[in-house]
Parts: sequence; C-alpha cells; structure tokens
Amino acid sequence: MSSHKTFTEARAALSGGSTVHSATELALAAAERQQDLNAFLELFPESAMAQAAAVDAKVKAGTAGPLAGMLLSLKDNICYKDHKVGASSKILEGFTSLYSATVVERLLAADAVILGRTNCDEFAMGSSNENSAFGIVKNPVDPTKVPGGSSGGAAASVAAKIVHVALGSDTGGSIRQPASFTGTIGFKPTYGRISRYGLIAFASSFDQIGPFAHSVADTAVVYEVMAGHDPKDSTTSRKPVEPVTLADPGKLRIGYYREGLERAGMDPEVVAHLQAHIDRLKAEGHAVEPLDVPLLDHQVPTYYILATAEASSNLARFDGIRFGHRSKVAQGVDETYRLSRTEGFGPEVKRRILLGTFVLSAGYYDAYYAQAQRVRRIIRDHTLAAFEKYDLILSPTCPTTAFAHGAITDPVAMYLQDIFTVQANLAGVPAISLPTGTHSNGLPFGVQLTAKPFDEARLLAAGKHLFGC
Ligand code: GLN
Repeated sequence: MSSHKTFTEARAALSGGSTVHSATELALAAAERQQDLNAFLELFPESAMAQAAAVDAKVKAGTAGPLAGMLLSLKDNICYKDHKVGASSKILEGFTSLYSATVVERLLAADAVILGRTNCDEFAMGSSNENSAFGIVKNPVDPTKVPGGSSGGAAASVAAKIVHVALGSDTGGSIRQPASFTGTIGFKPTYGRISRYGLIAFASSFDQIGPFAHSVADTAVVYEVMAGHDPKDSTTSRKPVEPVTLADPGKLRIGYYREGLERAGMDPEVVAHLQAHIDRLKAEGHAVEPLDVPLLDHQVPTYYILATAEASSNLARFDGIRFGHRSKVAQGVDETYRLSRTEGFGPEVKRRILLGTFVLSAGYYDAYYAQAQRVRRIIRDHTLAAFEKYDLILSPTCPTTAFAHGAITDPVAMYLQDIFTVQANLAGVPAISLPTGTHSNGLPFGVQLTAKPFDEARLLAAGKHLFGC
C-alpha cells in the first residue's frame, strides 16, 4: 500500500519530510503484492523512480509543481512515450508509444509520478473488464466480483490504495460504472474539456479521459492540471477552465430521474438509497424535483449504434500493415488483412466492428446511423433543456452493485449496464459517480451527478458539500 490513501495526505506528508521516492517504492511493492488483482498490465519502476527522484529534488529546491507527491496509473489506452500501450488487445501487443498523450505531458510537468499501465476491456469495450486479452481484473472489495469496466484496472488500482489517482476513459460510462462498483470517485468531464490527443480512440465523439480518486479534492486538482485547450486536439474547447475552488455551492435546484426509482431491474437498496438522498437534500433546503429521462429506452441503442459505427472506422487502422499484429501465416495482401485482424481482435471487438460496419453500410445507413444521429440530437436538446431548470441531475450510477465474474454473458444484458451513464456521453455533459452507499451484500455503490456543459466547478463542489466526498 502506498503510505497515504489520498494525494492531499501525501502532499501534506512531503512538507513533514517524507519523500516521493519512498512513497513510489512502497506503491510499487504494493502493486507487486496485489498482482493477483491483475489491475496492472505493467509497472514502470524505472521511469517512476527517476521521476520520483527528480520531484524530490524540486521539493527540496521549493520549485515542485502542483502534483508533487501524486502517484498515478494510466489506463492501457493512454500513450506514454517510450512505454508500451496496447488497449488490452493482442493486436497491439508489444507496441511502444512514440509520443505522450497531452494529459500525460501535463501531469508529468506538474510533477506526478506514473506507476504503470492498467488493464481494461479490449479497446475500452465492455462493462466488466472481462474482455481484456490479458485476463480479468478482480474487484479489490470482493475478488469474486468484477470491478466494472472498461476502466476496471484503473478503478482497482485506486480502490486497492496502490495509487492516489488513476486515469481512465469514458465513452459510455467506463469511468463512472467501475467507480460505482469499487467504492471510488469517477469523473467524466465535458466533451472537449480534456484533450484526447494520445488516447487510443474508441468512439471519438464520445471518448473523454477522466480521473478516479478517493476524494473530490484529489479529483479536482488532477482535473485542473489536465483540462483546457490543446492545439493537438481540435475538439478541445477554447473556453477558459473555471477554477475549482470547492466552495460551498449554496442551495441548488436538483432534478432526479423518476426512472431511477421506478424502473424494473433496479436493486431495491439502490433505489432506497437514492430516495434517502433525495429526502435529505430536500430537508437541507435544496429544491429537489422529479424529471423524466429523455428517451431512456432509446439511449442505450442510440449509443451502441453510434459508438460501434465510430469504432469500426477508428479500428480500421489496425490491419497488420500500418499498425498492429501481422499474421505469420497469411499469404498475400487480402489474407494479411483478414488473418491479422482475425487473430488480433477479441470477440467483443469483432462484434462491435461488424455492428458498426453494418449500420454504416449503404443499405442501412439511413435506417440506423443517420437515425441514431437524429435521436442523439434530441437527447442532447432535452438534456440541455433540463439544465435550464436544474443545476444538477441526480441518478443512480448503475442499477446494481458489482456482479460475479461470468454472471452476465448476454451482450445486450451487459450493454444495459450503461442505462444511466450513456446520456452524459450522448449529450457531451460532465458527470461524476460518488461512492455514497454500501449494500447489505457488503458491496459499494454510487450516485451520479450530472451538470451542464463546462460546469465542472459546481459539479465537484456539490460532490464535496452535498455528498461529503
Ligand atoms: N460499457 C460501454 C461500452 O462497452 C462503455 C465503454 C466505455 O465507456 N469505454 O461501450
């Protein structure tokens, strides 16, 4: 275990004379001891210890950056120059990054130490981390359960207290759902707030990088370092990043999803927990009102049409010629493409490429892809309209707590895990999962708060002051 659970504590200890070097050593040892979780695909002891020594020197000289003392992990789809990255796929096995993601550059420049890369569902497609080519990840709270996905290793690396913060990516819930399953905070910022340069793309109009942490304070500090315009990613916003003061946001107008309480398939304790928060917030003087989720039953299908379409295009580059594994038995060009992709991709990724290719095909484009684009627009309009009335929207993060390994085998049942999380990605708005509950089965779960675009400062402040995280 690293000596301090949160960065705030680790940072305070630095002024008391403890070193980043010793904290990094302890964290690397903790990761080795907990190898059984399979959270890390690889540790980076050499670069981590070198960075730790450099940060210690800066601390001594009084020139240390805002993240001095922070220990971090990177999901295996975020590029770190001269380090391996592979999206937990065999097709990228052995690939070394030629450059660093913008977020990595910013975090290193702020003096964070990167401990290693974490396991995930292959190309971030999944909700249980059972789609990795390198084995399942165990939930540190209960190893018989999944940690959620696709950023399962990232969530586990924080839940197991190996690192203070983990970077994940969230295309349809892959930060928030594993956060809910592991008792951590998971934060997906507004689309365009954080650079995607150096993130291996899954669905480019949905993907966002974001942090896992144990406190809103830690979430805020790492968010502020990463956020802001990046000339290398034209989808990043030029809007200035609002400082996150975490000051009390006062009395808020909060909408909550009626469906979060009434929908079939909801765990009754998750429902009762949400209701208890609603009652408490009302008693505290916030205006809390029910609202309907726009097109709830259309959200997951819309997401899976558009995300698979984008994935089929993004993953075309992994063909054994430009990128990725090349079949050793293939003869000729056609067979090289076919066999390299057949051997390199796992079953879920293949399913998504097939689905995406189908919805983009000439005969079905209008019926599926174009139609889903229209529905996405309506969902976004409805979502933004709700924020004219409410400051925040409250919902469960997931219908249930973490399930057992192997418990969900039907792909559609797995896709329905995302029922409450995809809206934020469809609409491009920020959302956070906060660990607020423990079920009678002993497992943690969260509530989700969603805000209007670029309202991260208020969202985080609410997480701290309204939910004590
Ligand atoms: N579970 C969703 C999917 O499989 C979300 C994935 C993600 O956010 N990366 O597509």
